[in-house]
Amino acid sequence: MECKLIRPGNLDEALAARAEYAHDALPIAGGQSLLVMMRNRLVTPRALIDLEPIDALRGAEVHSAGVSIGAMNTCRQLMASPALSEAAGLLPAAARQVSSTAVRNLGTIGGNVCHNEPGADLPPALLALNARAVLRRRADDREVPLSEFFTGYFETTLEPDEILCRIEVEHPPAGAAGVYLKHAVSPEDLAIVGVAAVVVPDGKGTGGVAEVRIGIGGAAPVPLRATAAEAALKGAVLDRETARAAGEMASTEVDPGADPHAGAAYRRKMVAVFVRRALLRAARQVEENGHGAA
Ligand SMILES: Cc1cc2nc3c(=O)[nH]c(=O)nc-3n(C[C@H](O)[C@H](O)[C@H](O)COP(=O)(O)OP(=O)(O)OC[C@H]3O[C@@H](n4cnc5c(N)ncnc54)[C@H](O)[C@@H]3O)c2cc1C
Repeated sequence: MECKLIRPGNLDEALAARAEYAHDALPIAGGQSLLVMMRNRLVTPRALIDLEPIDALRGAEVHSAGVSIGAMNTCRQLMASPALSEAAGLLPAAARQVSSTAVRNLGTIGGNVCHNEPGADLPPALLALNARAVLRRRADDREVPLSEFFTGYFETTLEPDEILCRIEVEHPPAGAAGVYLKHAVSPEDLAIVGVAAVVVPDGKGTGGVAEVRIGIGGAAPVPLRATAAEAALKGAVLDRETARAAGEMASTEVDPGADPHAGAAYRRKMVAVFVRRALLRAARQVEENGHGAA
């Protein structure tokens, strides 16, 4: 079947094409996943709407509340942005762990999030950063917390006439530290389990935590926050025992599937291990930054 390539000059033209073709067209960003899907006839769009020429989807701006990241930023650009490293270093750290140089050079944050492949590296980090997706259709914008954006296996809330324009990330609270750990067969593979942890100290100098955020990928049809483990750690001192207990609790919050890389029971076990490790490493960073126990 023939597939037409639409090259819009700006965002309005892209949204007009999106409205006109709806289910019959798909936006293409870096093409890293979409072209594989097309080659395998898993999707057969009549047209592709190329997002590459659209300047409004580029750049990363730091503002008083956080950072606004254009959907067309590649993993390479996320890694290379000093502003982003300063304001939300967890995201470049996760981008660094995406596959190979070639995939990082082309794959975009927007494509990574919209494709919603289990084991992708950016969603757990974005969840732990309380990120929000800014979606636009012709007449209006809507903002969706990323925790509500992912709806199922390779599915999101994105409507066929919408484009993901930006990801908004809040500034982490004072003294917070974030870590992303990936467990994969090889560094170029998707994560069997990927865990992002943000630890926010209570500021009393006693080693207590005001808040912990845990994002997990690869262990359920959608990336998710381990909210029960997070709640159990609120106000606690994060040490080996509380981190171990939180890891165990997080492993009961996931719903892993099996594939040739790993079975469900193994993934669940790895959630317990990697949540514990990520929490302890983030707590150590908090201490090294001078915000831990006095
Ligand atoms: C060999 C290989 C290994 C990989 N390994 C990893 C890995 O280890 N970790 C990891 O996280 N990822 C991995 N990926 C995925 C990769 O990082 C990209 O995130 C992914 O390919 C999607 O980004 P893209 O820009 O190429 O999107 P595309 O392939 O162009 O698009 C993907 C989907 O998103 C939609 N889309 C894209 N942008 C928008 C937008 N702004 N608004 C609305 N819809 C949009 C498209 O219509 C399509 O459905 C791998 C990919 C390959 C090919």
